Amino acid sequence: MSQHKSYIVGNWKMNGYQADISKLQAIADGSGSDAGVEVAICPPATLIAAFAQRAGGVRIGAQDCHAKSSGAHTGCLSAAMLKEAGATFSIVGHSERRADQGEGDADVAAKAQALHEAGLGAIVCVGETLEQRDSGDAIAMVTAQLAASLPGAASADWLSVAYEPVWAIGTGRVPRSEDIAAMHAALRATLTDRLGAAGAGVRILYGGSVNPGNAAEILAIPDVGGALVGGASLKSETFLPIIQAAP
Ligand code: PGA
Repeated sequence: MSQHKSYIVGNWKMNGYQADISKLQAIADGSGSDAGVEVAICPPATLIAAFAQRAGGVRIGAQDCHAKSSGAHTGCLSAAMLKEAGATFSIVGHSERRADQGEGDADVAAKAQALHEAGLGAIVCVGETLEQRDSGDAIAMVTAQLAASLPGAASADWLSVAYEPVWAIGTGRVPRSEDIAAMHAALRATLTDRLGAAGAGVRILYGGSVNPGNAAEILAIPDVGGALVGGASLKSETFLPIIQAAP
């Protein structure tokens, strides 16, 4: 099991403007005294540079990167570009990108590998759809998705995993605690299978409708090393209580 601090990551998705820097500052000020928690925000790429300059103790990450380091890829950003802007890591394989941009597991693994080669960290996202959950296949499906999404150089030093059931994202629905525990245990087994003893150190975050009312219970589940938070990370009033709920 991970020896790391809890890791609470805000994913702002396609939300946020320069005017929202005050929200980042409120989050940085409010979370600064909590030495037991590592806090990060992934704003839209347009805000990475401005946020990185005012982040205080908050890590600034990206929401995606391209697997290639340069070239004819209109509209895309390389890991080195994100690093130059001030990001120290990126989310990859979020279910919204898997669904909207058709990203597959091999793409996700290549993006994570590119981040590592540029000296950045990665959060690799996995999770089942409602259909897969209802058919009883969730654990088999999500562990296979993780195995196929892990890059060759995967290691606990730079890589975390986020378990985000697609049906829990932005819906207000969360799995039962025992289902989160069972999934995290299965993902841990996949990591140790693949990485040996080092797999025990990879943080596994939970994401999907985490809010101030359910954060303490979710973060107390065995092997939940933190949370990936969407909607509730957009305001300090809802993000700070989640950070404070971390064990
Ligand atoms: P949510 O999003 O907290 O709004 O459900 C989580 C995510 O997509 O990372």
